[in-house]
Amino acid sequence: MYKVITVSTSKRIEMIDITSRVRQAIKESSVREGIAIVYVPHTTAGVTINENADPSVAKDIENTLTKLVPPDKGYLHLEGNADSHIKSTIVGASINLIIENGEIVLGTWQGIFFCEFDGPRSRKVYIKVIEG
Ligand code: ZN
Repeated sequence: MYKVITVSTSKRIEMIDITSRVRQAIKESSVREGIAIVYVPHTTAGVTINENADPSVAKDIENTLTKLVPPDKGYLHLEGNADSHIKSTIVGASINLIIENGEIVLGTWQGIFFCEFDGPRSRKVYIKVIEG
């Protein structure tokens, strides 16, 4: 069993803080000690952990990924979203979280971000909690 979160994105490239929603899903699992896998089942999106205190950090990441992988660079994939697939692979499709006393162990400034690279769309995030 795993939990599913739905994320609605509103831009082509957008990092959305989903920390509180992941925290809620883990609470609902009632697991006190274990790990959680947060997995994005999409080829043009990703999930990452980074600073959520200053929103400029996410914006800088979005802008830098766009500079590194521009939308139109003569890619072979003709669907018009080759850059989105590449950004997805750079960021990655999953993260692992430690759960201790029913809470996610995160650094002071860390948050969990869903990364949209080909929005706007309705997206899914899967959360598998393993006790141990
Ligand atoms: Zn494609």
